[in-house]
Amino acid sequence: MQPIVKYEQITKSFGELEVIKGIDLDIYPGEKIALIGPSGSGKTTLGRLLMTLEEPTGGTIELDGELLWHMEVKGKRVRASEKHLHRMRGKVGMIFQHFNLFPHLNVLRNVTMAPHCVLGLSKEEARERAVTMLRKVGLEEKLEVYPSQLSGGQKQRVAIARALVMQPKVMVFDEVTSALDPELVGEVLEVIKEIAAEDDMAMLLITHEMEFAREVSDRVIFGAEGRIVEQGTPEEIFENPQSERLQSFLGRFR
Ligand code: ADP
Repeated sequence: MQPIVKYEQITKSFGELEVIKGIDLDIYPGEKIALIGPSGSGKTTLGRLLMTLEEPTGGTIELDGELLWHMEVKGKRVRASEKHLHRMRGKVGMIFQHFNLFPHLNVLRNVTMAPHCVLGLSKEEARERAVTMLRKVGLEEKLEVYPSQLSGGQKQRVAIARALVMQPKVMVFDEVTSALDPELVGEVLEVIKEIAAEDDMAMLLITHEMEFAREVSDRVIFGAEGRIVEQGTPEEIFENPQSERLQSFLGRFR
């Protein structure tokens, strides 16, 4: 099977600071990967690179069989046009810690906006798709409500529906529960678990919730200081960590 995402020898620096130090990672269609590791180790940057929110300093990223930042023209590799980037961006969705909903639009309009304006679906088609997604995240009764009337957990579920409605091939979840009150974390993780079980898109889940990582993923990757230190099945990583670094990292959650 061809990977849907292929990071090859990826490096990323911000000025003098090298944040990603040579990462090779293949993500397969439908695969659910949990990315764990200490804060500052480059996890968010890895997701942002895929969203084209950051450009790599070195290496290549392939998405769905095509280069992300470059394209082939007459057999030569040239810098990607805005059109190419736009098309590639449509294959990836990302959900952030802070939900960034449009405060002046109700829940339904928050979710229909992009399929209508970006994908060009008719209002009816966009609505139909949006309602299906909002049902999936358990918010079909809140269609007319404005974000300010929702709890943090509900807002994050709207943000998840808004990303799902675009039907990306890969979805990056970036610590989506970190900004929530503890009592709201469970409902959001439950929704993500259901989506992971039902949906065949690939998922890259950046998380500090170890139980969740274990339950939801096919593969766990432990990164530290811009490198992949260890990876394996949830059982291998959580039951039998090999490196001292991973052992000590996991020790903090016990
Ligand atoms: P993680 O998600 O593992 O916590 P990040 O990818 O957010 O790590 O950050 C890795 C490092 O890169 C941190 O030291 C962070 O401060 C730095 N960093 C991230 N984005 C920027 C930026 N736009 N400019 C400068 N430094 C950045």
